[in-house]
Amino acid sequence: QDTIQRIAAGEVVERPASAVKELVENSLDADASRVSVAVESGGKEGVRVRDDGIGMSREQLELAVEEHTTSKISDIGDLEAGVGTLGFRGEALSTIGAVSRLTIRSKPRGGSGAGGGSGAGTELRMEGGEVVDVAPAGCPEGTTVEVGDLFFNTPARKKFLKTDATEFDHVNTVVTQYALANPDVAVSLEHDDREVFATEGRGSLESTVLSVYGREVAEAMHRVDADPRAGAVHSVTGLVSHPETTRASRDYCSTFVNGRYVRASVLRDAILDAYGGQLAPDRFPFAVLFVEVPPESVDVNVHPRKMEVRFDDEAGVKAGVESAVEDALLDAGL
Ligand code: ADP
Ligand code: MG
Repeated sequence: QDTIQRIAAGEVVERPASAVKELVENSLDADASRVSVAVESGGKEGVRVRDDGIGMSREQLELAVEEHTTSKISDIGDLEAGVGTLGFRGEALSTIGAVSRLTIRSKPRGGSGAGGGSGAGTELRMEGGEVVDVAPAGCPEGTTVEVGDLFFNTPARKKFLKTDATEFDHVNTVVTQYALANPDVAVSLEHDDREVFATEGRGSLESTVLSVYGREVAEAMHRVDADPRAGAVHSVTGLVSHPETTRASRDYCSTFVNGRYVRASVLRDAILDAYGGQLAPDRFPFAVLFVEVPPESVDVNVHPRKMEVRFDDEAGVKAGVESAVEDALLDAGL
């Protein structure tokens, strides 16, 4: 693995949370109904993502860690078509593998262990971009990816990492967004062997919010459900909190556009403006909002990894979201 490749990898995988994001996305892509994330020391000492998805055969596993391999060639069209495509294509595993010690155990779902003897799965180990071992291994159906020693071979990148607490905040934010966006998947997060949250995967947004944010917040949430007449927004659904249930951080406003988590100031502004003067200074509500817009009216490639988007009709989107949240607060008598 040459230096240029390693530096390039460091640009793509900035911190433990970026690895977590890619691995969780892969698990969801693999049709998992359960995704368990465990990290040590904010992810600096280790990241483990386990799923019960479709799994991989030995051949698929060996292919998966090669550069620019993807089972999602058809998704390339989606890059133009609109939101729905996640991350960079076919590079996540090889990129993470280039800057860590990576162990992947996988077993295809429902098969008799093609290529690996009856019932066996496969374990593949990679160090700094080189596959060092591939062997049969007993493991449950699905896939477990362990990322150890992140940035062991890119000291400059390693130096950029913040405290364990800060790195864990980033991990928590990422896993929380995927949990909220996928109420039908049981998503759990552990930090240094302590459970941070675990959702049930029963399909309700309310129960997912309860699992992630706790009872006090869940009980203060009000339903948003609007089909604005304006053309810029098809629908706005989700939950927003009572104006007195707030935090001193806007990270508790989660917005999803056509199913994808995005950070867009226009959506934050819409939510805050809907509360008008009801929020105390520098306080932010909890919100989980799913905004559906015509796919051709949103550009998702502004910066795919930073989860930013650009709308053709920003003002229209803002008006649609703001009125949807206003209506929800009015309905709640606020
Ligand atoms: P991409 O997701 O863009 O295809 P990745 O490097 O993230 O690229 O993954 C490469 C391939 O490895 C995927 O296309 C998929 O076939 C396989 N893969 C990765 N993670 C998993 C997983 N958790 N379960 C099953 N297959 C996986
Ligand atoms: Mg991927």
